[in-house]
Amino acid sequence: MGQQNPRTGDGTGWRVPLADVVVDEKLAEAVAATLRSGWWSSGPQVEAFESEFSAYLGSRFALAVANGTAALQLALAAAEIGPGDEVVLPSLNFVAAANAVSHLGATPVFCDIHGEADLNLDPASLEAAVTPATRAALVLHYAGYPCDVEAVSEIAERHGLVVIEDSAHAPGASLAGRKCATFGAAGCFSFFSNKNLPVGEGGLFVTDDEELYRRARLLRSHGMTTLTWDRHRGHASEYDVTLRGFNFRLDELRATIGRVQLARLDEENASRGRLVGHYRRLLEAAGLAMPFGGVRTDLCPSFHLAVAVFDSAEQRESARALLAAERIQTSVHYPPIHRFTAYSSEPKRVPLSETESVATRVLTLPLYGHMSEEQVDLVAEVLVDAVGTPLRGS
Ligand SMILES: *Cc1c(COP(=O)(O)O)cnc(C)c1O
Repeated sequence: MGQQNPRTGDGTGWRVPLADVVVDEKLAEAVAATLRSGWWSSGPQVEAFESEFSAYLGSRFALAVANGTAALQLALAAAEIGPGDEVVLPSLNFVAAANAVSHLGATPVFCDIHGEADLNLDPASLEAAVTPATRAALVLHYAGYPCDVEAVSEIAERHGLVVIEDSAHAPGASLAGRKCATFGAAGCFSFFSNKNLPVGEGGLFVTDDEELYRRARLLRSHGMTTLTWDRHRGHASEYDVTLRGFNFRLDELRATIGRVQLARLDEENASRGRLVGHYRRLLEAAGLAMPFGGVRTDLCPSFHLAVAVFDSAEQRESARALLAAERIQTSVHYPPIHRFTAYSSEPKRVPLSETESVATRVLTLPLYGHMSEEQVDLVAEVLVDAVGTPLRGS
């Protein structure tokens, strides 16, 4: 990458980190300009970020928020989900999704995934988990591969459910030319540092539904009818509180980073796609599997994660240890939510056998847009050594 600032580094000493960010003059200057403007709370940068993001997605409304978890909670709260309601979601997701449901007093009900070739939710399992108390389906586009949101929408229509897309992995991903986060009633993004659009902390809620947008906008800032920014500009001096809301606002500095990163998103995703293709060629030649090998041709992933699937939990653990010894960072997406202590008492309505089988055997490998092919070669070599298979075809 050209023009990178000298970076001070994070002191962790990984030879290949799991994720990484690009720091260049353009980004540093944009942040400095906002800093010097003297207005740091939500304001014109946030508004510009929202309109640029909704234009990019083709959605009517967008609200920038403090983080991805806040976006999920805002979507659920705006859909008026609360005590007595059930929300179905795949157990193979980040715990934030279940926490967001729980904090509104609703009950998370877990469904299964297809299996090791497709780590997205199985719509049949989702439907089997539905009861008269079910109000919403909270779906994930795992690793940035769109889930079968068309089948989910059909199920939702039949049972009167709200569909909310956890699109934290899928900014820029699309299905049949339509962007992820625009299929359901609402979509949610995260801009945590390891995501495709890294800001540090940040999130976004999108919807085409004006009612949902109005409620979410109020709930984002305490339920207050005017914003500090409006009052600062002299557009308002009083306010009422019409809903019991949250403080989920994003600030100007983060919105500025978000705008620079949004302009780079398509390039980032394309570069990740090439690297995942390289991983896939090397690993599959050595007999190691990666999911999502044969996806629909009208599907455009955002390639958030590079995931390898092992034959056994033991094989994964030894590979992970060998990679760590070579200072190559890995992770697991995800330990299933229903297995965590805090969620172990939730009712288990449908079998979660594919989730349980896969969760002990998946390993997430380093991936970021400016990673080099040589770094992918290195990770693959160590991995192939670890499973004791010669690297065929190279
Ligand atoms: C990152 C992530 C979240 C949470 O986002 P934060 O910005 O960290 O709050 C939720 N769901 C998924 C799938 C994620 O990857």
